[in-house]
Amino acid sequence: MTEPAQQPDPLQRAARDHLWMHFARHAPAQEGGEIPMIVRGEGAYVYDAAGRRYLDGLSGLFTVQAGHGREELAQAAAKQAAELAYFPIWSYAHPAAAELAERLAGLAPDGLDRVFFTAGGGDAVESAWKLAKQYFKLTGKPTKHKVISRAVAYHGTPHGALSLTGLPGVKAPFEPLVPSAFRVPNTNIYRATEHRDDPEAFGRWAADRIEELIEFEGPDTVAAVFLEPVQNAGGCFPPPPGYFRRVREICDRHDVLLVSDEVICAFGRLGTMFGAERFGYTPDIITFAKGVTSGYAPLGGMLVSDRLFEPFRHGTTMFAHGYTFGGHPVSAAVALANLDLFEREDLTGHVMRTRDAFRSTLERLNDLPIVGDVRGDGFFYGIELVKDKGTRETFDADESERLLRGFLDKALYDAGLYCRADDRGDPVVQIAPPLICDQGHFDEIEQILRSVLTDAWARL
Ligand code: PLP
Repeated sequence: MTEPAQQPDPLQRAARDHLWMHFARHAPAQEGGEIPMIVRGEGAYVYDAAGRRYLDGLSGLFTVQAGHGREELAQAAAKQAAELAYFPIWSYAHPAAAELAERLAGLAPDGLDRVFFTAGGGDAVESAWKLAKQYFKLTGKPTKHKVISRAVAYHGTPHGALSLTGLPGVKAPFEPLVPSAFRVPNTNIYRATEHRDDPEAFGRWAADRIEELIEFEGPDTVAAVFLEPVQNAGGCFPPPPGYFRRVREICDRHDVLLVSDEVICAFGRLGTMFGAERFGYTPDIITFAKGVTSGYAPLGGMLVSDRLFEPFRHGTTMFAHGYTFGGHPVSAAVALANLDLFEREDLTGHVMRTRDAFRSTLERLNDLPIVGDVRGDGFFYGIELVKDKGTRETFDADESERLLRGFLDKALYDAGLYCRADDRGDPVVQIAPPLICDQGHFDEIEQILRSVLTDAWARL
């Protein structure tokens, strides 16, 4: 008797033949490669269809703050869906959106009292740029419309948010984009050409590039600066000391709005509810998404200062902007339950108490020849890989392709660590585990990275 032919896994076939994965090359799957299929999550771990376990070293996508498998978040969603599954917040309110807006305003820096909900982070950034433009039109400065952001920063995929993004390769297929978006240097001190040994001077230098650009373009044309508290793309660039104080002064001097894009950095990622709090500045707008629901339902939004809402308080003026799913009842209910969980388990306090241990555990990797820099804050780290530690020489495009896509991504996953090897800037491994992680998880992350990075070096 002949063996029956092996049936292809129906889920693999469905994904291969019909699913368009995001930011993904499809050739490997089209040529018969297996698509990682994650079926279940529990705490800091996810499991694939074959039952293999992976430490979720990226919180999904910087999102699952409270960890996987939280019954109370699932129940909050079910309860809300049974009571009122959907209603828009277009001229109407529902209890979950109203309560969540009040709760977020209470947690945000003083003066940020108004919440505009979206369904995700890119839409929040898009909304912030549009609000900045309309605000200045309403307040007698109609030519203020340009925006500034930083090199290599990622702010999302809608046309406006993509225009703000500082990654030429990600933008090129969609050019021409929205005009009027300009870039300044980021705070990558590891690769700084100026003041590399003096973080304060470097911070002053980097902030002053913003003022220089505002002056080049004309302060009467610039509406807003978009900055992440810790820049993600490029591999976690924390702000040098004094950077945000100086940026705030510059923005005030030129009446330019400071937008803190906290799609990643809010909700405990840095040990505080908002990243601005971590670094002691007050922005005019905070954009958020991801961790607000710990990823149990999609939600984003912007927290807006009272000053920006003021012109919309009276008469017939409105912000002619919105999303069908902005402030979705189920997502808002999940966010409220998530904030309860944050309070009950003191997740921000846990990050504050364990962040030094996390840093020093990752810093052990500094003894590997391929590790050039370990940088970040809270539970948010980038590990930059180099060809030569002494000279900081990086990999060329071919080497980076072979190292990251040809080896690291799969090797880390096969070794039981889900994280991201990224070469949008210089090659980095990004690590941002759920906020429930402790020393046991930190050690596991370090050990897997050590073993896989050692293999990677041997292959070079
Ligand atoms: N802004 C920042 C800083 C981000 O990191 C991201 C996504 O990672 C976005 C905006 C876009 O968010 P979304 O993917 O929810 O549209």
